[in-house]
Amino acid sequence: MGEAGLDVSVVTVLWEGKQGADFMRSFVWKCLLSRFWFAMVAAFLFAGLFRQTDTHAQAMVKCPGGLALKLNSAFTGQGTLLLAEVIAVKSMPEVKAEWNGRAMELWPKGTSGKTLHGLIGVDLEKPAGKYEWKVIWAGKEGNPITCSALVTVRNGKFPTEKLTVEKQFVQPDPEQQKRAEEDQKKMRAIFDTVTAERLWDGAFHLPLKDATTGGNFGRRRVLNGQARSPHAGVDFPALKGTAVFAAQRGKVVLAEDLYYSGNTVVIDHGYGIYTLYAHLSEIEVKAGDAVESNAEIGKVGATGRVTGPHLHWGLTVQHARVNAMQIVAREP
Ligand SMILES: [Zn+2]
Repeated sequence: MGEAGLDVSVVTVLWEGKQGADFMRSFVWKCLLSRFWFAMVAAFLFAGLFRQTDTHAQAMVKCPGGLALKLNSAFTGQGTLLLAEVIAVKSMPEVKAEWNGRAMELWPKGTSGKTLHGLIGVDLEKPAGKYEWKVIWAGKEGNPITCSALVTVRNGKFPTEKLTVEKQFVQPDPEQQKRAEEDQKKMRAIFDTVTAERLWDGAFHLPLKDATTGGNFGRRRVLNGQARSPHAGVDFPALKGTAVFAAQRGKVVLAEDLYYSGNTVVIDHGYGIYTLYAHLSEIEVKAGDAVESNAEIGKVGATGRVTGPHLHWGLTVQHARVNAMQIVAREP
């Protein structure tokens, strides 16, 4: 009901020739009813506004003791990287952080000693829902103080892709299957290791000189008609032999031929952050090597399960498989 509805009602009342008092009563009643609906719409709009404000408030939580938690966003999708900050008004106590019940690393931001920051990886297949980022420290009397911010994870919208690859990569024989499982075990052991030291120094960059963007992240894959796990990295189409560079400083923890990812290099950057480079034609480093940012580590190829030469670049942050392009943007 709106203003037009009121006009029609008034006209109807006049035509029926009611007495003045009746007319007035009716008029006042209609007016009230009209205002009522107006107020309802206004209240609804205001509630919407406040919900918006609330969204921003969730990205910044004020904690007791002059601390604040800040997230670059309180709403995110699967396979993303969030930048988390702990800010102290005066001095920073010794804090411990947890993301979704698992210990998370924080390191100083700048030299003021008043801000710590860290990366929160949201795994590619993390179910949609609300998750807690928790920070704990000791209060004045030594009592533990806990403060937390909630992150809402939404389902990612990833396209499904149908590809045809060699039969052995969809239906491996028992020996190939065993090899693939051993590779998986090796990778799990690597990602379970959190080096308690920051090995990178500065911003991360893309692993190819001329690349500007990588694609295919998160795509659900159907290989030779069979559903397979989603694509956990970004692909850069490139000619075989193109030089591949370390995205940042770190330590090579794997440099070998794996069943699905072919010639593969994994670099540990510290604090549970790993980059992976797959399908290389040549590997130019070995496990245990310390590499500088931009060091050449191999050449683009088409080894393992591929449809053609390209570089597959993966990023794992404390077990979460996330879109590697995002670490370039976050500048941790
Ligand atoms: Zn790939």
